[in-house]
Amino acid sequence: MRVTLTPIHRREHGISGTIAVLQDITEQERLEQSRREFVANVSHELRTPLTTIKSYAEALDEGAMDERELGQRFVGVIRNETERMIRLVTDLLHLSRLDSNQAPLRRQQTNMPEMLEEVADRFSFQMRKKSIRASVRVEDDITTVWLDRDQIDQVLDNLVSNAIKYTLDGGRIEITARRMHARAAGSMPEQSDAYPSSERSSRPGRTEFATRASESGDQGRQEPSSIAISVKDTGIGIPKRDLGRIFDRFYRVDKARSRSMGGTGLGLSIAREIVKAHGGSIALDSELNEGTTVTVVLPLLTGGETS
Ligand code: ADP
Repeated sequence: MRVTLTPIHRREHGISGTIAVLQDITEQERLEQSRREFVANVSHELRTPLTTIKSYAEALDEGAMDERELGQRFVGVIRNETERMIRLVTDLLHLSRLDSNQAPLRRQQTNMPEMLEEVADRFSFQMRKKSIRASVRVEDDITTVWLDRDQIDQVLDNLVSNAIKYTLDGGRIEITARRMHARAAGSMPEQSDAYPSSERSSRPGRTEFATRASESGDQGRQEPSSIAISVKDTGIGIPKRDLGRIFDRFYRVDKARSRSMGGTGLGLSIAREIVKAHGGSIALDSELNEGTTVTVVLPLLTGGETS
């Protein structure tokens, strides 16, 4: 709380009173703190690859270049680190455009089954390499949806690439789309009855969506019927203590692991911003060593609406 006192002067009486302004600066401080953290994170994330590039370039200069195999390996490291920096800067620019509303939605009629099949196809090579089986299921009555195809593709790419990264060889990934009935504004809509009951039931001791980190972009607004797209994997899962911060920029359960897989720690934050811009919500449900499900709920618009 900041208190500012301003004396009120009257010519004939001197000071005749005081105006006290009580300002709640908790929110301001919190924003300032998160801005400082963000800058520190960006600097650190850029410094790490730069330091690696510098030391490998020096080693090449000091003789490693003369040994063909070693030289090639070092050049490979430099290339990988450079690519990671490019990915990081691209993600940062994307986030900044989303933050300043410079990425307006270009909605178009989108064929939902086709869009989900295509995302699975884009990753089929990576999945085959890890012997991961994938399935795509879309409820029969879901056909076209009014959304920004490029941006939602990006969300799906992030989710599926995470599912692959954090799933061990031989695992399974399921991509599904189902209708949801809105219960109340700001809450996760109920699942449609048309959804197979085997998928709907919870495992013993686990409530559906019970341990989830959820971010909603349309709190306080009554939603019409929505569509829920889920990417479910049988991967390593996320410890409960990390779920609350999983959508934060640069937050990673295991930084070293994420980096070694080429991650920037910004994928889920970008997904959240894009989904928010669509007036939707994103939630993550995870069980350590069992798997993770990320569900994106989008308002079911048929065309012409703005959100
Ligand atoms: P990254 O580039 O590190 O993957 P993200 O923002 O996409 O960044 O994800 C943040 C963190 O959330 C990851 O580093 C990882 O720890 C965790 N995570 C995301 N998706 C999954 C998943 N499907 N399974 C397990 N952990 C996940």
